[in-house]
Amino acid sequence: RQAKYAALREEPAITRDGQRVSLNMNAGLLIDLEHFDLAGTEGIGLFRTELQFMVRSRLPKVEEQTALYSKVLDHAGDRPVIFRTLDVGGDKMLPYLRMKEEENPALGWRAIRIGLDRPALLKAQLRAMVRAAAGRNLSLMFPMVAEVSEFIEAKAILKKELVRSEGYEGGAPKNVRVGAMIEVPSIVWQLPHLLKYVDFISVGTNDLQQYFYAVDRGNSMVADRYDMLSSGFLSMLRFIVRESTRADVPVSICGDVAGKPLEAMALLGLGYRNLSMSFEAIGPVKEMVRSVDTSRIESFIEALCEAREHSVRQQMRAFARDHS
Ligand code: PEP
Ligand code: MG
Repeated sequence: RQAKYAALREEPAITRDGQRVSLNMNAGLLIDLEHFDLAGTEGIGLFRTELQFMVRSRLPKVEEQTALYSKVLDHAGDRPVIFRTLDVGGDKMLPYLRMKEEENPALGWRAIRIGLDRPALLKAQLRAMVRAAAGRNLSLMFPMVAEVSEFIEAKAILKKELVRSEGYEGGAPKNVRVGAMIEVPSIVWQLPHLLKYVDFISVGTNDLQQYFYAVDRGNSMVADRYDMLSSGFLSMLRFIVRESTRADVPVSICGDVAGKPLEAMALLGLGYRNLSMSFEAIGPVKEMVRSVDTSRIESFIEALCEAREHSVRQQMRAFARDHS
């Protein structure tokens, strides 16, 4: 199998009906950069910056962060990279950041909430990203955006850093794109409004599913109770892709489902054409992409969005067996 996927590395991710699909990789540690060259992927669709913070015993200084982000951009060259600002709290703790015990950490002080309450932390990280991207492209996104105003506030902090960067040696980034992760249901209900302010969005289905069904993603007693392949969740994903397409805002999926061939097939049927996943998943997902006809999946998925039963996994499996 590995040899088969290696042979696909240089092959394009195009469906039978000629739809081009962008397959990207999720990363977070420098070791991932080695996989980047081998995976046969276009770019890094999600760089989880918090992993670098979690492997340290103290807060990395701006210079250290700058060096790290530079290394990632140097390595990527012309391939696009999307940095995500610090997504700690919830299940990801930093030993050196004083955080209170919380009764419901997943619903607590995490991600952009920390960034906005402790702007020095977010500012330092944004400064490092801006410096690292001097003279080149910078794409970044904010995690756990629940309100349009949070995005606007975070973007204003970035704007200040960009103005500052004009005085730096090396100058400002060439082109800056700022996005929001869609992983809290409240922001889905504000999507047409949010889409006026963002350059792109990326759907974090891991958290979105957790908050959609009110199910702790790490609790084995309930984690498998609700299926992403269900009419409710698929309908929400369909709404997101339709709204962003209508507003002409690029949309991608960076949650784990993007790396599962069956789920990814459903995503193609909904209209998604940009997926980001772990490097091991690129080969299997590319193989699936090259074997399908999206127009056939589209009409099938439409019907599944009206299904009476909760999980439509069986139907999806049967479809995949017959059509790929
Ligand atoms: C997600 O929530 O789907 C996501 C990609 O972010 P993380 O898994 O890092 O929370
Ligand atoms: Mg998330």
